[in-house]
Amino acid sequence: MRVLRTQVGIVGAGPAGLLLGHLLHLNGIDSVIVENRSRDYVIDRVRAGVLEQGTVDLLIAMGVGERLQREGLRHDGLYISFRGNRHHIDMAELTGGKAITVYGQNEVVKDLIDARIATTRPLYFEAEDVSVGALESSSPVIRFRHGGADHEIRCDFLAGCDGFHGVCRPSIPERAIATYERIYPFGWLGILAEAAPSSTELVYTCHERGFALFSMRSPTITRLYLQVPPDEPIENWPDEAIWDEMLARMTTSDGWKPRVGRIVQKSVTPMRSFVAAPMRHGRLFLAGDSAHIVPPTGAKGLNLAASDVLVLARALKAYYEDRSTGWLDEYSDVCLRRVWKAQRFSWWMTTTLHRAPDESAFDHQRQLADLDYLTGSRAAMTSLAEQYVGLPAEVSFESAGL
Ligand SMILES: Cc1cc2nc3c(=O)[nH]c(=O)nc-3n(C[C@H](O)[C@H](O)[C@H](O)COP(=O)(O)OP(=O)(O)OC[C@H]3O[C@@H](n4cnc5c(N)ncnc54)[C@H](O)[C@@H]3O)c2cc1C
Repeated sequence: MRVLRTQVGIVGAGPAGLLLGHLLHLNGIDSVIVENRSRDYVIDRVRAGVLEQGTVDLLIAMGVGERLQREGLRHDGLYISFRGNRHHIDMAELTGGKAITVYGQNEVVKDLIDARIATTRPLYFEAEDVSVGALESSSPVIRFRHGGADHEIRCDFLAGCDGFHGVCRPSIPERAIATYERIYPFGWLGILAEAAPSSTELVYTCHERGFALFSMRSPTITRLYLQVPPDEPIENWPDEAIWDEMLARMTTSDGWKPRVGRIVQKSVTPMRSFVAAPMRHGRLFLAGDSAHIVPPTGAKGLNLAASDVLVLARALKAYYEDRSTGWLDEYSDVCLRRVWKAQRFSWWMTTTLHRAPDESAFDHQRQLADLDYLTGSRAAMTSLAEQYVGLPAEVSFESAGL
């Protein structure tokens, strides 16, 4: 058995784990990151693509935003489409200049892995049988097998950054954690297509046949989504059928439609809202998807992971500076305030734009009236814009050592 010691043991090398590792590094705090997948798998996983203004600012302040600034696509606005018409919401104008940036999660992860490797601090990929223990002691541990040998990492603190299906949250005794959940009666069929985006901004469509979203990953790749039943087999959707449905839902009365191209990736994702609270047990701190999941309509998942770890980095920095535990004690409450606001926004975007299988004719007319009000009221558009570009950070960058 190889026994190692570190200050913070991090489980998971997704956005939350890698961001935390780098924030700690910038503060001279040692960490070990343990990931059960391969480096290529983690980098190739296609997921989020919308970064809030605060997430972009954070990555730049951390010194890992160089490629993001060069290749990211800044969007000052977005479109809401219903009854065949697109309505523009100028987010930058409504929020005093804030915007979102489209930059794939896999690109963020790639930049962070490169930054981690440059620090020479440990990052284990393909760790097997990962488990955590001694959470309530002053020396919690991560155990795993790697390269044929058993490893035990003894830590001051553990960060559970291992996503929704990880091992950290289930290691907390049931009596010590409450969960809140909503499962939606639909999912998203998502595709990546080799087609130059036909709009420079995202288009959210509420159509009689269901929700659709037009987005992009680069000047040559379009990313599109269709509302489908949550358990829809992808085999039911040959490429031609996908394009027929995309065009039927998205084409607007002014003739705008997505450009068709070769589909290079497609999958169906169910949608749920989930929160586990508190986000701490003993010396284990949950961050990102291990503690909460949002439906992707509001584009908040990756951004919440970033805001959690900023709060955690502040607390750990304070602990190592003068052994103060106040901000560690506040970690869960501070994060959950933002998490619940993001939950509410994501739920609202989802229910306002999707067709529920059990909705009545009244429900649908009310939904259209909601969209009519939203796109006709500066106050309503401002509310959407300030949440979409991201509410102000819970803690300052300076307090986290940036
Ligand atoms: C299809 C899809 C589309 C999405 N679209 C958006 C979007 O548009 N905008 C947005 O903001 N969010 C979106 N999200 C959500 C976003 O991707 C997540 O919120 C984000 O990945 C959270 O980061 P994380 O680091 O907390 O978790 P993850 O990215 O899940 O990372 C967790 C890591 O832990 C590893 N791990 C798991 N179990 C173990 C274990 N036992 N031991 C060691 N390591 C382990 C995993 O392999 C993974 O690398 C989307 C998610 C999906 C699935």
